[in-house]
Amino acid sequence: MPIVLFYIRIIVHTTVVTLDAEVCGQALMMRYDQLWDVVIVGGGPAGLSAALILGRSRRTVALIDEGKPRNSVTKQAHGYLTRDGIAPAEFRHAAHEELARYDSVWRVEDIVTKVVKEQNSFVAGTCGGSNLYSRNIIIAAGVKDSLPPWQGMAQVYGKSVFLCPYCDGWELRDEPLAVFGNGNNIYAFTRKIYGWSKELIVFTDGPAKLNEKQKLALQIRQIGLEEGEIDQLQHSADGQLTHVVMRDGRSVARTGGFLLDSNERQATNMPESLGIGRTAAGHYETDHHGQTEVRGLYIIGDARTIFSGLIGAANDGYIVGEIINNDLLEQEWKKSGLH
Ligand SMILES: Cc1cc2nc3c(=O)[nH]c(=O)nc-3n(C[C@H](O)[C@H](O)[C@H](O)COP(=O)(O)OP(=O)(O)OC[C@H]3O[C@@H](n4cnc5c(N)ncnc54)[C@H](O)[C@@H]3O)c2cc1C
Repeated sequence: MPIVLFYIRIIVHTTVVTLDAEVCGQALMMRYDQLWDVVIVGGGPAGLSAALILGRSRRTVALIDEGKPRNSVTKQAHGYLTRDGIAPAEFRHAAHEELARYDSVWRVEDIVTKVVKEQNSFVAGTCGGSNLYSRNIIIAAGVKDSLPPWQGMAQVYGKSVFLCPYCDGWELRDEPLAVFGNGNNIYAFTRKIYGWSKELIVFTDGPAKLNEKQKLALQIRQIGLEEGEIDQLQHSADGQLTHVVMRDGRSVARTGGFLLDSNERQATNMPESLGIGRTAAGHYETDHHGQTEVRGLYIIGDARTIFSGLIGAANDGYIVGEIINNDLLEQEWKKSGLH
């Protein structure tokens, strides 16, 4: 079966090939004869948008995507002009249809497991056993969230408890909400959520790290503060939060909420293996457009910023596509003489 799969990949570049997860880890490494202009690791809005602008620039692009974008837990995505309220799967489907128009773009479901820098190129090895050679590589692999261990958290996440009020605050406006979190940023986060609903209780899951002035500021706005430990989040069958249950048995009615911290981690540490460091905040070191110190290596979207939002990630892809195309044009003109 894997051999058939690889033959399909070689012959038809525009064909989308499904990942056979079972081949992951097998030593069936395959080199494509082609040197791609760009290999893109990750097909969320950042990677898809880069593929679009590069395809339109007549560049050869291999887009490798595992197919688990960060917002796939939600029913609707918001804030992307002309797409407000769209289902994440519909968004991806529309993007895939648009990309299919560009025959120099090859999209495949697979997982990149390593990237190696050679003298003037990169090699991306995949779980499916491919080795893809390219002049540039874009890491658009996003981040993974690690949720608090409260029972019910996974069920309400993306259904009635969210991270980003700009994405989901409108839908929860004026509802009795929970704000989950503690530490330095909880005060500013609560103030932000207050813009969408004044019926707030802050759950710090232990002694609140707020100073007296901040506690007073919450109190005069009638924002509750619950410092007990959380046991579980009760919810309906479709993930609608109903109660926050404390370890001492008390149950507090809430219909939704926002989580300050989802303990994100990079989906891939491949940039580290190529010598890219991290900032104190955990971001990979890049310039504002995702360019790294390694020539030809770019990091965009959530992998660059931790939370770009769909339109921010797509913007990253657009800009980096343009940067790479300009760089390739310059190299090509230099190579062919007078420029
Ligand atoms: C619950 C929730 C709700 C959200 N709602 C909204 C919203 O309403 N509006 C909004 O603007 N933003 C929203 N966001 C944020 C938004 O999802 C992200 O900012 C955005 O998806 C980032 O895009 P990206 O392309 O950088 O990464 P992603 O969309 O996460 O895509 C990364 C892709 O790379 C793939 N990948 C990872 N590693 C590899 C690998 N090694 N090889 C191949 N592929 C790989 C992943 O499977 C995935 O398909 C939400 C986030 C969450 C968690």
